[in-house]
Amino acid sequence: MRVSTASSRPGDNRMYELEVQNLIGKGVRRGVSVWQVSHRQLNASLRRINQLGGRLVRITPAQGHHEAPAAAPSDTPVATPATPAAAAKPRAAKAHADVPVNLYKPKDPFVATVVGNYSLLGEGAIGRVNHISFDLSGGNLHYVEGQSIGVIPDGEDAKGKPHKLRLYSIASTRHGDNLEGSSISLCVRQLEYKNEAGEQIYGVCSSFLCDIEPGTKVKLTGPVGKEMLLPPDEDANVIMLATGTGIAPMRAYLRRMFDGGERAQNPEYQFRGKAWLFMGSPTSANLLYENDLNSYLEEYPEHFRYTKAISREQKNPSGGRMYIQDRVTEHADEIFALIADPKTHVYICGLRGMEPGIDEAMTAAAAKCDQNWTELRQALKKAERWHVETY
Ligand code: NAP
Repeated sequence: MRVSTASSRPGDNRMYELEVQNLIGKGVRRGVSVWQVSHRQLNASLRRINQLGGRLVRITPAQGHHEAPAAAPSDTPVATPATPAAAAKPRAAKAHADVPVNLYKPKDPFVATVVGNYSLLGEGAIGRVNHISFDLSGGNLHYVEGQSIGVIPDGEDAKGKPHKLRLYSIASTRHGDNLEGSSISLCVRQLEYKNEAGEQIYGVCSSFLCDIEPGTKVKLTGPVGKEMLLPPDEDANVIMLATGTGIAPMRAYLRRMFDGGERAQNPEYQFRGKAWLFMGSPTSANLLYENDLNSYLEEYPEHFRYTKAISREQKNPSGGRMYIQDRVTEHADEIFALIADPKTHVYICGLRGMEPGIDEAMTAAAAKCDQNWTELRQALKKAERWHVETY
């Protein structure tokens, strides 16, 4: 695993804690060791771990430490042996305590008013995908980027019971599309399939939403979810892997990072890291929020990168449909190097089917550095840097 320290600033005093297993020292393999190294020493330390046959299982920012003198890292652990449970405990638990959850429950939902509903698709696109916005004024329904909201569609099911709620990823920032802090937007594809009898079936809630008129009252619950929260760190790197409407939370993150109005609202969050979106779509006409994404590319070329997998227009190296995991394979070494930076977070949202291919690509990249991807991914998950919400 290699980490670029090119962006390391003079006087950069970031420290990292590396948890390593199976180091060979004085002819004996140790169990778990913990190293504390400076940002400058990180690459050399990772190489040393490899040379000593060790396995990196965790890499997290060290709290409350200052940079050690710039010396080559020794193979002697500089900290006491880890207590694995403490080492693995995510630091962010406290930070999430103020994230709102379940402010409105199904028995007493918030009644929002639709203020907009338009198609996100270009001409010749497959199916229907709409951007739908609701006014939330007059209540206490609020949320942060990466959460989901429940929608209870009007009407009853086949048994005459009220419909149950369906969850949708929120596509707007906490400020809402109009930046007034009292609205929410969703990105909804109308579910459509043929049942065993060959009849065309349309999703209850997705059809209700795609057909909805401004002014309609809709019952909302939540918000829910802490899996997909964006780190507050303005220097974080954020890798996003989305298929179709799985782009919803990423649209919110990217607006928070790069939209001019949003940046003006968030003096405490002036994103300076790297954001890299991988987007899977069946056709170019099905790409979502393209205008916004292109404007971010123009304005922030050093900070935003956008890689598309257009399955029915592009071919992968084996001649099959180009999927997001093929793009991950293409860039696996680069992604893997970015992941070595403790400031990097990965977000996966959309079809569950993309996950095995992503793991396969990362396994190969990890193997080149004698690393075990399964263990590393678990460590990333524990450090709250690997975020997955797939259906
Ligand atoms: P879509 O527009 O149909 O695009 C999906 C893309 O993924 C297409 O290019 C499709 O290719 C491709 N694809 C199909 N199988 C794949 C596989 N095994 N691996 C990688 N790519 C694959 O997408 P959509 O209808 O909006 O669907 C998005 C999915 O995300 C839905 O299942 C939705 O429920 C889910 N979703 C989840 C969340 C969440 O968990 N929070 C939020 C939003 C959406 P081809 O069709 O050309 O084969």
